Amino acid sequence: MTAWNPENVRQDFVLLQNTDRVYFDNAATSQKPKCVIDAVQEFYEKYNANVLRGLYPLSVEATERYENARKTVQRFIHAACPEEIIFTRNATESMNLVAYSYGMANLKAGDEILVSILEHHSNILPWQMVSRATGAKLVFLECEPDGTIPKEKMDEAFSEHTKLVAVTQVSNVLGCVNDIPELVKRARACGAVILMDAAQSAPHMPIDVQKLDVDFVAFSGHKMLAPMGIGVLYGKQELLEKMPPFLTGGEMIETVSRYDAVYAELPHKFEAGTVNAGGAVGLAAAIDYLESYGMDTLHAVEQELTAYLFRGMNAIPHVHVLGSQREDNHTGIVSFTVDQVHPHDISEVLSSDGMDIRAGHHCAQPLHDHLGIHSTARASLMFYNTKEEIDRFLESVSNIRRRMG
Ligand code: PLP
Repeated sequence: MTAWNPENVRQDFVLLQNTDRVYFDNAATSQKPKCVIDAVQEFYEKYNANVLRGLYPLSVEATERYENARKTVQRFIHAACPEEIIFTRNATESMNLVAYSYGMANLKAGDEILVSILEHHSNILPWQMVSRATGAKLVFLECEPDGTIPKEKMDEAFSEHTKLVAVTQVSNVLGCVNDIPELVKRARACGAVILMDAAQSAPHMPIDVQKLDVDFVAFSGHKMLAPMGIGVLYGKQELLEKMPPFLTGGEMIETVSRYDAVYAELPHKFEAGTVNAGGAVGLAAAIDYLESYGMDTLHAVEQELTAYLFRGMNAIPHVHVLGSQREDNHTGIVSFTVDQVHPHDISEVLSSDGMDIRAGHHCAQPLHDHLGIHSTARASLMFYNTKEEIDRFLESVSNIRRRMG
């Protein structure tokens, strides 16, 4: 394992080297280290051929690299076998896969789909579609104003009709970590399957899908140092085996006749068409990079940065940080408002000071409605950020009201 050295780490990121801007929009997408960019370039320079199709050496080598990337993902999240790892475009596609394949085939009128109010739209809209098509009822698991979901709210939301639970491990607005073990326990008690959205957790903390005993997990490569356009769906093998394909076409079949087809074995049954092999190779390189430091180390580094940011934000008058600030239960996402300043203005002022943050509803409108606010400003940290950057950010935030006149 490589010793943690914050100065060295930034040198691995070319974009961070070539700018004096502060990049605090990591929840939207992360920056990419040179080793990831090199791995993708190497794939296209040395091994480019369509995978799983050709019998010639180049295609065989490309396929080998693609399938090795699958094994790297398997190791990263501790899945039981590579067949449980499906490559998709992103977390959104992974969750749609579960909704359209598992949801449409298994849910019916009288069943309940339980979705937390903290979800990103990509873990709400597919369930709205399933609910409309099957008659299953969409039920929301509510949170407290600080974003936490206490057991009483779970008591209210779960019922003997709950057949699918779709919940994020980390809120992309509040940064707080949900109690997945408790939710899994309750899902099991009513015979429901549970889908965990790991888009905001996989880049920041260790995940062991077998220990958590979740049925499905979705995440995106681009938020964890990998290229855009590659994502992952983990599913328990016995569930994936029984599910119908989501997309159909080339690559996901054994044989096709005029009116029927025999589908390929897992995982290819769910990977229709030409896959993003270069992206998968880039994702494997990103995982190797994260693991060279260790997810525990990176998580601890980010927790320290987050605690530092919380302390600074809490000391500025007229600034309100949203959600629980339990440092042991939080990633580096910090959403906030400033009295009498619209979040878009906050973002513009910060941008003019050289800081990149996000403002808006962050694809979580139901959560904002629930909290009674229209929009927020959001700073989101990654391990390559520094306390000096946070100091610059705090200085800028503390001047916003004066700057707005
Ligand atoms: N889920 C959460 C919690 C997210 O934060 C995001 C993106 O911000 C997504 C899902 C969707 O990710 P993608 O756009 O990469 O599919």
